[in-house]
Amino acid sequence: MAVTQPAPVAVTGAHEGVLRRQSARESAARTYARALPIVPVRARGLTIEGADGRRYLDCLSGAGTLALGHNHPVVLEAIRTVLDSGAPLHVLDMATPVKDAFVTELFAVLPGRLAERARIQFCGPAGTDAVEAALKLVRAATGRRDLLAFTGAYHGMTAGASDVSGHAQDVRVTRLPYPQDYRCPFGVGGPRGAELAARLVEGLLDDPKSGVPHPAGMILEPVQGEGGVIPAPDDWMRRMREITATRGIPLIADEVQTGVGRTGSFWAVEHSGIVPDVMVMSKAIGGSLPLAVVVYHEDLDVWPPGAHAGTFRGNQLAMAAGAATLGYVRENRLAERAGVLGARMTGQLQGLAASHPCIGDVRGRGLMIGVELVDTEADDRTAPGPPPPAPALAAAVQRECLHRGLIVELGGRHASVVRLLPPLTLTDEQATAVLDRLADAIEAATRAPRAQPRLD
Ligand code: PMP
Repeated sequence: MAVTQPAPVAVTGAHEGVLRRQSARESAARTYARALPIVPVRARGLTIEGADGRRYLDCLSGAGTLALGHNHPVVLEAIRTVLDSGAPLHVLDMATPVKDAFVTELFAVLPGRLAERARIQFCGPAGTDAVEAALKLVRAATGRRDLLAFTGAYHGMTAGASDVSGHAQDVRVTRLPYPQDYRCPFGVGGPRGAELAARLVEGLLDDPKSGVPHPAGMILEPVQGEGGVIPAPDDWMRRMREITATRGIPLIADEVQTGVGRTGSFWAVEHSGIVPDVMVMSKAIGGSLPLAVVVYHEDLDVWPPGAHAGTFRGNQLAMAAGAATLGYVRENRLAERAGVLGARMTGQLQGLAASHPCIGDVRGRGLMIGVELVDTEADDRTAPGPPPPAPALAAAVQRECLHRGLIVELGGRHASVVRLLPPLTLTDEQATAVLDRLADAIEAATRAPRAQPRLD
């Protein structure tokens, strides 16, 4: 699709004032706004235009929400159709033709064996709300309380979701090692590292003295996003499925970030062929508007009426935008496209790593790509394993990217991973422009004296 450039907007003078007022009035908890001090006023496809008149290639995509980029015509058309129809915009969880069409489209793209006997629950509008619902559901269905989750996980900010994330406090969650090659907890990486991680899970579950009670469920991301773009090996995914299935433990796949074609298949669980008992979905399923659902096997449908409610579960515009997005990704085979283009971009970045020792690792799946920056001049280079992470360098790369009109996100345990989450509509030319700007930014950041990341 040709990306038409919007006409410049005459609000250049607003830029400084808006940023100044934001920093004076908004919470100290604001996040993206600090590292990306721009004031978006228009956007189309990959491109955001700031109030300063500058254009940026947006590889953050609303934290992975914009599968079709900004303001895609099919999404706008779907929203306009609902607006022009006079339909109510908000109707709690009542049935509407818009919702009916969304569920039909979603069930058409679900993994087949789940779709056959699936139930869907509309949750509060954010990913974390759907995670809460999923945890509550498996607890209700099993009558058990405790949960299994993984190191480095990110499932949201509400209490239960953060319990199963890497920054949790709650002791009811047992955190298991997530397999990873580059910083393998067992120091071996590859299939052997993943197998050891799986055996540890088996051992904990089968040892009556392990201190791990029989859990209500296991929650995992098929590719850890915020944790640093770490794809789980397919064999390990199958092992988790088998371990949970044989022990009667519901498996929850959090596809909030990986869903809707992002990783090269419509759902990331499809790479391994496993069928989870519960899938959590948000971000791209709302076609850029807030929407979150949990889809689960009907055997788990034990909730009495009203067991999981919430006011904002009926956003008709989000359902229309979401149905249009799901249909467009399906019809245009954008998952396959993401797989092919993502592999090419990852390969090119690996080529860049060969001549840049500060790039410790390049990894990802589809258009979920991570570039881990490392400190090759760290004092203690006699320690085994990869060099330590380089968060200050990563922050400098992010700043240099912004100077060059490229928006990237940072992630990973130490915020040392530059993350690319471009829209699935990315063209070959745009991919080249993104990689050129990123390569220049890495060059510039490694040449410049290292500043500490700014907090304001
Ligand atoms: N799960 C995953 C895998 C996520 O990546 C995120 C958000 N990055 C969430 C859950 C939480 O979603 P939200 O921010 O919409 O609450």
